[in-house]
Amino acid sequence: MLLGAIADDFTGATDLCSMLVRGGMRTVQLIGVPRANDPVPDADAVVVALKSRTAPVREAVDESRAALAWLRAAGARQYFFKYCSTFDSTDTGNIGPVADALIAQLGCGFALACPAFPANARSVYQGHLFVGGVLLNESGMEHHPLTPMTDANLVRVLSRQTEGKVGLVPYAAVEQGAMHVRTAMTSLQEQGNRYAIVDAVKDAHLLAIGEAAEHHVLITGGSGVAMGLPANFRRAGLLHHGGEAAALAKLVGHAAVLAGSCSRATLGQLDVARTKVPVLQLDPLAQPDSEGMVRTARDWMADKLGEAPVIIAASASPDKVKALQQRLGRDAAGALVEQTLAHIAEDLVSRGVRRLVVAGGETAGAVVSRLGVRSLRIGVEIDPGVPWTYAEGGSTPMLLALKSGNFGAPDFFVKAFTIAAP
Ligand code: ADP
Repeated sequence: MLLGAIADDFTGATDLCSMLVRGGMRTVQLIGVPRANDPVPDADAVVVALKSRTAPVREAVDESRAALAWLRAAGARQYFFKYCSTFDSTDTGNIGPVADALIAQLGCGFALACPAFPANARSVYQGHLFVGGVLLNESGMEHHPLTPMTDANLVRVLSRQTEGKVGLVPYAAVEQGAMHVRTAMTSLQEQGNRYAIVDAVKDAHLLAIGEAAEHHVLITGGSGVAMGLPANFRRAGLLHHGGEAAALAKLVGHAAVLAGSCSRATLGQLDVARTKVPVLQLDPLAQPDSEGMVRTARDWMADKLGEAPVIIAASASPDKVKALQQRLGRDAAGALVEQTLAHIAEDLVSRGVRRLVVAGGETAGAVVSRLGVRSLRIGVEIDPGVPWTYAEGGSTPMLLALKSGNFGAPDFFVKAFTIAAP
């Protein structure tokens, strides 16, 4: 293993994985802190996906430390702490406290911090984070229910979360390339800084930062800043893969989609798919009974599973979602649908489904945990940010694509089964 990464949420972890695979690194995502005797995947990068972004600080720190200990024992050469490209955190954490703990554990004393991801319209200029053309604190993120971002100045934001000093490598240095970034970081470290926020407004900057950080023990940032890392390993003669890094073992079996996302993108993707493949639309408002819905799905799939992919969806328009939430309470409504879909996923697998797309972040979490999936080897992307993965840990290996609600083009559910890998 060359790179050992810790991600503060699940979809963020997958995002980082895809970036590394694009750079030719064979990458495996592990779900939760691995157990001491879990086998080390045969991969160039291993990304441990935690749910620590909004967890209590102590818990986030403890889990991150445990993940790092496992990755060190597994022999990684460099470490990466992945957080959101909008630097999602509060004044008490968790980016600062987790990064502090990792720096202390590694004894490296210093790390760069760069959430920039210009391809996704996240850029950092003079230490200020922009989303598209506006400052972070005017982007809507100031209203985030859990991590409201009311200050775009990342030097200040990170300073509030750590006792360490935070400096800045400004645009002028980054624009001059890797050597200048390295010199600037070295002098910040010599001046007693624990962190360097690094400006980046285009991919060339990310590549320069990656090159400059070649010998850093720990790098922190969004998945953008990982763009330059595969080239370091390649230059050092440690990485020999190219496009085949995304190759997954073939699996024979039925294909299905489970949709629990009610996002506009997913509703549109279902509309497109309805004209092409069989779709069972569950209606939890009319049938707010998990066992009943599972039975309905079981009868339906017995009839429909065959050559073509099938879709089972609970997704509904905002007024229907609201009506169910009013009747059951928000959490109970979500849990009812998530647990029902997870149960149906189990039935699909027992009936021979081996290629499964799950739409919805929370829905995917429920399905993965019900199936007992512990690791995902990352394959080709169906659309940006949504790769096919080879999932292990459950009763049988299978190909899974976990789509966060808003991701994917309108023909996603059809396209997923026609691209090369599965
Ligand atoms: P996204 O990635 O779009 O946010 P999630 O799966 O994370 O999707 O969240 C969607 C939530 O909506 C889940 O909790 C799911 O159980 C719930 N849900 C799905 N269908 C319905 C429905 N018909 N009525 C109410 N809630 C629903």
